[in-house]
Amino acid sequence: MGFWDFFSGLFTGVAMPHRSGTRQINKIIVHNSDSEWGNAAIIDGWHRERGWSGIGYHFVILNGFQQNRGFYAGSEDGVVEDGRPLHKAGAHVKGENDDSIGICLIGKHHFSPEQLLQSLPKLLRRLLREYNLRAEDALFGHRDFSSHKTCPNFEVRHLLPLLEE
Ligand SMILES: [Zn+2]
Repeated sequence: MGFWDFFSGLFTGVAMPHRSGTRQINKIIVHNSDSEWGNAAIIDGWHRERGWSGIGYHFVILNGFQQNRGFYAGSEDGVVEDGRPLHKAGAHVKGENDDSIGICLIGKHHFSPEQLLQSLPKLLRRLLREYNLRAEDALFGHRDFSSHKTCPNFEVRHLLPLLEE
C-alpha cells in the first residue's frame, strides 16, 4: 500500500485490508450452538455463566426458534445477529481466537436452508471481501482445529462454490 493509498483510505474511511482495529484477521471459523433454539442474547448468558466476559462469537445465525423448540418464526430464520464486536478477539476456539472471526449457527445437526444457503454464504462473502481473504485459505469449521470435536456438524468446505463472486 502506497502513501497516497493510505491517505485516501483515511479520508474515505476505507478499512485497511486484513485488519479490524488492531486485530489481524486470517480465519473465519464456523460453529453450531449445539442447541435446537437460541439467539445471541441467550448464548451471551450461557457464556457469562461459564465466567467469560460475554458471548464468544462475533455473529449468530438464527434458525427461527429463539425461545424454545415450539415457536418457529419464519421471519427470524436466517437472521444474522451481532455478538462480540469484531475488533475484540472472540472466545470460540482455543489458541485460534486472536486472528479469527467466530460465527455460530443455531442448531445441532439440522440447519435451515436460510441459514446454510443464504445467510451464512452472504455473511462469509462480506467478511472475505472486507478482510481480503480467500475462502480456500481462511474458512474453517471448529472441528478442523480439534480432532475430538464435531462442531459445526457439517462440512464448511461444501459452501465454497457459493462463495465465488
Ligand atoms: Zn464450535
